[in-house]
Amino acid sequence: MRKIRLDLGKRSYDIVVCYNKISELGSHIKHLKLGTDALIITNPVIKRLLGGKIKKSLLGAGFNVKIATVPDSEKAKSEKYCLGLLNSISKFDSTSRRIFIIAMGGGVIGDLAGFAASIYRRGIPYIHVPTTLLAQVDSAIGGKVAIDLRVGKNLAGAFYQPRLVFSDAALLKTLPKKDLISGLGEIVKYGIIKSPQLFSFLEKNYRKILGRDKKALEYVIHACSLIKARVVEKDEHDNKNIRVALNLGHTIGHAIETAAHYGKSYSHGQAIALGTIAASCISRELGLLDEKSFLRIKNLIKKIGLPVTLKGLNIKAIFKAQEHDKKFIHGKNRLVLPVRIGKTVVKENIPKPVIINSIESLLSFPRKPAALPLGRRESI
Ligand code: NAD
Ligand code: MG
Repeated sequence: MRKIRLDLGKRSYDIVVCYNKISELGSHIKHLKLGTDALIITNPVIKRLLGGKIKKSLLGAGFNVKIATVPDSEKAKSEKYCLGLLNSISKFDSTSRRIFIIAMGGGVIGDLAGFAASIYRRGIPYIHVPTTLLAQVDSAIGGKVAIDLRVGKNLAGAFYQPRLVFSDAALLKTLPKKDLISGLGEIVKYGIIKSPQLFSFLEKNYRKILGRDKKALEYVIHACSLIKARVVEKDEHDNKNIRVALNLGHTIGHAIETAAHYGKSYSHGQAIALGTIAASCISRELGLLDEKSFLRIKNLIKKIGLPVTLKGLNIKAIFKAQEHDKKFIHGKNRLVLPVRIGKTVVKENIPKPVIINSIESLLSFPRKPAALPLGRRESI
């Protein structure tokens, strides 16, 4: 068991990374003195697989425990289910007023339960017990909580830090392989933005992670949690141009998700992998990233089982969607670009043809060779 302290003054908390220690969750929470009544928020799938173990650990530590469920899928991150949850919280809360929330699930549950905790009585404590690889390495850390609105994802949200993140890699045993691969996409991202060591580890050990090897999983979850914790400490509210690095691959990735209408054709991890390749391609075309690093990125993504080519989507639709991305500032586009493995830069005002060419290069059969209207090293 390893602990990372995310230092944010009064809002500091521990990230526990462990394997098969869920029976100790109750005693970890007890030390925090958050209250007596634990409301676990989850979905029916996770409740069936893991609910019993977690409930037992909490009951053993003397908590009153209730479980509230929302449907499995992104549709739970909606005003409808959020309001339903707030009413469930208020029912459980009516007697003791010493309630806290445990978000037990992937990024969907974490974002929704964290958001409900942030607005119920203007904020009650909550804890993350992430059960997907993506949630353990990414979404459970850093306090971004949100629900989706009809016009877009994560539009109603807050920065509201949890009181503990308890990442038990053994909980991933039942995670479907596609979700494991999706989480690996985010792990590759951490390697590219901050850690050549992590990237090399993935090149050598990706098979172990896909095989859910205890040590390999603990290593990557710890490494990514540490990277994210240090980034969040420097830029909690994402307004200092530091946290933005975590968006590598997300601008074009989100555009691919939008163009696919959040359908089943591309999962978040798959879209981000394609977005990362597109960002690396832009960086290479601008003379910022060498060919060897570009190929290492593309090859690792491919070996993991994530897509490196785009099928069935219209380039114009993707380009249009990325123009509406929230990362556009004052009408200028803004992308995180890798300059080597372990380092990124943020560039604004990238010429439209360079972006279009990068998206086109994702097609398995590009319509035309990538002919650029500018010199490879032209500044932007
Ligand atoms: P998810 O929460 O939908 O989980 C994926 C699937 O795995 C679900 O069907 C879920 O029921 C199932 N599942 C979860 N744990 C399981 C387990 N242990 N065994 C078996 N099945 C299990 O998806 P996700 O990829 O974890 O999260 C995606 C969400 O995270 C998106 O809504 C995204 O916006 C959000 N997100 C938030 C942040 C943030 O900083 N807050 C960062 C990244 C992503
Ligand atoms: Mg992401």
